[in-house]
Amino acid sequence: MFDRLKIICLVTCISIASCTQYNKNKQVNSLNIAINGDSTYKDTVIVDSHYTFTEAIDGTTAPKEIIKELELIDVEYYSIDGKIHKGQILTNKALVIDLKMIFKFILKSKFTIEHAIPVVKYNWYDDLSMQDNNTYSFCYRNEFFSKHAKGMAIDINPYFNPVHWKVGYEYRQNKPEEAYRDTTINGTFYASHPVVLEFEKLGFFWGHNFKAKFDDHHFEK
Ligand SMILES: [Zn+2]
Repeated sequence: MFDRLKIICLVTCISIASCTQYNKNKQVNSLNIAINGDSTYKDTVIVDSHYTFTEAIDGTTAPKEIIKELELIDVEYYSIDGKIHKGQILTNKALVIDLKMIFKFILKSKFTIEHAIPVVKYNWYDDLSMQDNNTYSFCYRNEFFSKHAKGMAIDINPYFNPVHWKVGYEYRQNKPEEAYRDTTINGTFYASHPVVLEFEKLGFFWGHNFKAKFDDHHFEK
């Protein structure tokens, strides 16, 4: 009897977990309608991230010369609950002015950012950060391969804007794997999206224009 109960509980939990994933985007859609119809501005700001600089670089394998180039900035945005959140971006000092301008634009235009938290929260596994739809800039890795290694790139809402592949590479998986793109969801980019245009105005390269893939969440300098 006890075993049967355990099995029923397990099956129910799995069903609830998969429904939560499935409903995530539906929930965002209805929240976006609520945001757009709401003319009142400031609610209580919800804090997503409040690291010190020392905490934000804790455990990185980056050399000292790179760490010296980094700065931790506070940013505000509307999250998927329709409320203003405060997050943080650990980035290269060379991008600070640009990113502050971009986030001002993002807040004003009510473009949804789910959350922006330095990758230390995910023990430096950027795959986990992407899976969690997290917006981030610095994550040390091969410097020749990725501009994130020096904080010279930013990924925005990777789950809403997954990597998908161009002709000849379609056999490759989207990244994050089960994420799909729906441009009707606030927080999703497309060519001529106002946030994309803001980035391009400031001289950023959009990952959508890479040769083999549409890396839609990625902007770099
Ligand atoms: Zn990226």
